[in-house]
Amino acid sequence: MVKNRWIEAEARALAEAAGESEAEQALALVIHASRLIGADRDLVLHGGGNTSVKVKRPDLFGNLRDVIHVKGSGHDLAEITREGMPGLWLDELLPLRGLDRLQDEDMVNALRGAMLDASGPNPSIETLLHAFLPHRFVLHTHATAMIALADMPNAPEVIREIFGERMGVVPFFKPGFDLGRAAVGTFEENPEVEGLILLNHGHFAFGGSAREAYERLVEQTTAVEEWFAANRWPARVHSSPEPRRAVEVLPLLRGACGAVSAAHSGNRDAPMPVIDLRRSDEIDAFLMREDLDILADAGVATPDHVIRTKNWPVVLRPGDEIAAAVSAYAERYRSYFERNAARHPEDRTMLDPAPNVAWIPGLGIAGIGHDARAASQAADLAEQNIRAMAMAQGASGYRPVGEAQLFDMEYWSLEQAKLGRTRPELSGKVVIVTGGAGAIGLATAQAFAARGANVFLVDLSQEALDSALESLGEGHDGLALDITLDGAAASAVEAAVRRFGGVDILVSNAGAAWTGAIAELDDALLRKSFELNFFAHLAFSQATVAILRAQGRGGQLLFNVSKQSVNPGKNFGAYGLPKATTFFLVKQLALELGPEGIRANGINADRIRSGLLDDEFIAQRARARGIDEETYMAGNLLRREVEARHVAEGFVALALAERTTAHVLTVDGGNIEASLR
Ligand SMILES: [Zn+2]
Repeated sequence: MVKNRWIEAEARALAEAAGESEAEQALALVIHASRLIGADRDLVLHGGGNTSVKVKRPDLFGNLRDVIHVKGSGHDLAEITREGMPGLWLDELLPLRGLDRLQDEDMVNALRGAMLDASGPNPSIETLLHAFLPHRFVLHTHATAMIALADMPNAPEVIREIFGERMGVVPFFKPGFDLGRAAVGTFEENPEVEGLILLNHGHFAFGGSAREAYERLVEQTTAVEEWFAANRWPARVHSSPEPRRAVEVLPLLRGACGAVSAAHSGNRDAPMPVIDLRRSDEIDAFLMREDLDILADAGVATPDHVIRTKNWPVVLRPGDEIAAAVSAYAERYRSYFERNAARHPEDRTMLDPAPNVAWIPGLGIAGIGHDARAASQAADLAEQNIRAMAMAQGASGYRPVGEAQLFDMEYWSLEQAKLGRTRPELSGKVVIVTGGAGAIGLATAQAFAARGANVFLVDLSQEALDSALESLGEGHDGLALDITLDGAAASAVEAAVRRFGGVDILVSNAGAAWTGAIAELDDALLRKSFELNFFAHLAFSQATVAILRAQGRGGQLLFNVSKQSVNPGKNFGAYGLPKATTFFLVKQLALELGPEGIRANGINADRIRSGLLDDEFIAQRARARGIDEETYMAGNLLRREVEARHVAEGFVALALAERTTAHVLTVDGGNIEASLR
């Protein structure tokens, strides 16, 4: 349920902090109302919705003119600031209403031309609607209950039943000039209305003050929520399906989407998407509905969602062949595109036809996107969508906008521009890093994250893991466990699959050094070292390969080997022996997995400040050689200390070297004795 978050004292303090200017105070208040709206996930999601305020400001000639501040495109209401609310001269926008038609590109150009600050962000696509309405404060949302209402076949009657004459009803138009004109037309038929419901789209509320507009928005949304609570028929459901495991479904789905993308783009190595799985009692109940297929075919609840979710989900029931289901989806999407593109005057280029949402009875619903953020946005919208579907279907039926209008929105040049941004080179690659909270592990995670990858850290210490994850920011995850335990690698890899849908790259990095003269070496100590420095590497590579095989699109295994694997140090046998075995493992994996496109490479690093080589140890070894610590750390051909970040860059370089396998890269500043052929 939406709630009223307005606190008058808080609003007054913000307005006062904005200074003496009435315009600045009004702007501060609309920003406040916008943030309150943004805080409510049942009102808006991910850049959805927009707000505006009309003020007076002097121009360069000292004339006081009307100005509208409206949300800038690409800004999110939850975090909006003054910079996200560009101002436009209202007297330059109002005459546009007299035009018979206005192309989208011309509209955007006219909006930009009317801006007070030419360097500001593009004003919202719904700016003209805000501008044409006379109210000082105008707020627009796509609240779950409102889109459910707007998608019912008898929406106008229900709106009248709930609101009487207080609410205007606007027929569906694509956002922009036509919608702006239709909305103000509806308002003018009855200037007493306190809000507008846009059929198949969303809701506008307005008022003379920010508080009035916001409270009307909340009150009107609440009235609709209450109507649905009182008008709810239980859905007929199937008995609950056998629960399924993410690891048995998502890698297949991910691989199938990757195959569709590869065929579409003509790039064999096209990246696979990230998958964000959601499960809850509400989702489980929805997926048991008898009318699931009907709803899956009905389409999205608001066209605002279509660029992130497409019009339909792919439905994957137990027993369905996943690759076949995904390719049938892509075929269906292609014919939808061809059917609708044919009636378009301008050429349109088909988007990647892979699904962006999956409904998986027995598992949950999944958002599918080019990286973790896009997948999470698709999942959020998919969740809101099923909630709206269930509400409408439980009352008088769910009838969203038809495919022709939907196509116009999906293939609208302005929306397409939002998607065309270039992505970082490792965007959406899922990378598991073991020992991920240590010096080399974290530096490696940071280096991959900086290139757009989504990282899953595995580390022994929960505390270290938490702080490492915090330093990485959003879009990454991890698990704390002892990787030498039986089954640990498999459960860590499975956790990464549950979180991101699969794996692309393993950086098997965790290690620890034990010392002792080889002639008297304790057997138990050597075995312990083998557990971590060899068997954990083997177990992680096996668990990862199982996922890579399910995805069927190659992948790679990277190992932190060690200079010790080829150049033994005195008393380091307990470390060098398993590392030498791991060196061999790289070659064995490369040999056996190459035909499947799975590469295996490693790094031999030496003398890096880390858990293995801490300050105390460095001091001790420098003393033993009679040199200072700095000289000791720079004891290589280049005479420069090698840092964790240099090893990290080595891993990234190997990840990007697409035709390199069975290779071990040396990152030690140069050491002739340890150099490979
Ligand atoms: Zn909208």
